[in-house]
Amino acid sequence: MCAQTPREQVDLSACNSLRLPVRAQYFVRLADVGAVPEAMAWARRRQLPTWILGGGSNLVPRADWPGLTVQLGAAGVRFESAGRGVRAEVQAGHTWDALVAETLKRGLTGLECLSGIPGTVGAAPMQNIGAYGAEVGSLVEAVYAVDRRSGKTHCFSAQDCRFGYRTSRFKQDEADAWVITRVVLRLRTGNPAPLDHPEIQAELVAVGAKPSARAVREAVLAVRRRKLPDPTGLPNVGSFFHNPVIDAVSWRALEARFPGLVSYPEAAGHRKLAAGWMIDALGWKGRRCGAFGVHEHQALVLVHHGGGTGAQLLEFAQRIQADVLHHFGVALEIEPRVYPV
Ligand SMILES: Cc1cc2nc3c(=O)[nH]c(=O)nc-3n(C[C@H](O)[C@H](O)[C@H](O)COP(=O)(O)OP(=O)(O)OC[C@H]3O[C@@H](n4cnc5c(N)ncnc54)[C@H](O)[C@@H]3O)c2cc1C
Repeated sequence: MCAQTPREQVDLSACNSLRLPVRAQYFVRLADVGAVPEAMAWARRRQLPTWILGGGSNLVPRADWPGLTVQLGAAGVRFESAGRGVRAEVQAGHTWDALVAETLKRGLTGLECLSGIPGTVGAAPMQNIGAYGAEVGSLVEAVYAVDRRSGKTHCFSAQDCRFGYRTSRFKQDEADAWVITRVVLRLRTGNPAPLDHPEIQAELVAVGAKPSARAVREAVLAVRRRKLPDPTGLPNVGSFFHNPVIDAVSWRALEARFPGLVSYPEAAGHRKLAAGWMIDALGWKGRRCGAFGVHEHQALVLVHHGGGTGAQLLEFAQRIQADVLHHFGVALEIEPRVYPV
């Protein structure tokens, strides 16, 4: 039996940043990650599926959640010197942006470009969160995760995590195999690495700030406030679609057909296409269909105006995907996790 007994039929509509209606068949919030194996065993004995909820800022509830939903409440960070840097060992339930703020207060650098991303530390390695040229994967030393079937804890090195653009082994392995309980990050002291993001550079110039880690955080937060709707006022999950990565040959052919197509260089000659540019070019930006719409300033963000369901949101997203595929021949993938599948 779980130390905390799961509650039945729990309304989690306020626990997802899209504010979509959803109930969990069973729900438990664990204050101690040591209780994760026990919670998994509780569900296994009843042959129930399990689902991990972080801050709910990167998921779409399609319908009510069957089985046991577990939220990790454990927060806390332990800092220790490690060579010329500092190691931060963080509990999965810690709020991501609180961690970023705390590291900067301690004079550590590395996380400043990842300021303002909602959610928890445990979810950060899942999709290798990234923004303004930085990705969490490049700072990860290790990730501790519980195998949902055996209840055993594994320690994965950064290489074992198989980080890529908005992906990792935790997304690629058999669905929902792992519960991330702790993340170890390696941070630096001193000045931040040179910035190569034009928007953040321009913001630093505009406010006359030197590129210290704290100034970069302020610049990132200012740019995010301008570009992204605040989910507490206008529910959303940030980017709804991945930026598709295509090979050089396909990119040249596409660019010849669509001059002005925005893309960025990727490894091995590949190009990352700006999905928002394609959606905007097709006239979706600012369009509203019933309860959902495309944000007026950021075509990659779908917003919920209220009264809609996850199924309706996915129908709306499918219309955009079909339009982009028809016009550009490019398939857009949905970024947030849809559950139940
Ligand atoms: C306004 C806004 C802006 C955003 N900007 C960015 C951005 O710039 N860059 C970016 O990368 N993302 C961005 N996001 C997406 C989101 O904030 C991140 O993906 C974040 O890491 C999700 O954290 P969460 O705790 O809310 O996860 P949830 O939404 O609760 O869960 C997401 C997925 O991770 C799984 N999960 C959560 N915790 C664990 C765990 N401990 N162990 C195993 N699985 C787990 C869940 O089961 C689910 O599959 C943005 C979202 C919003 C709303």
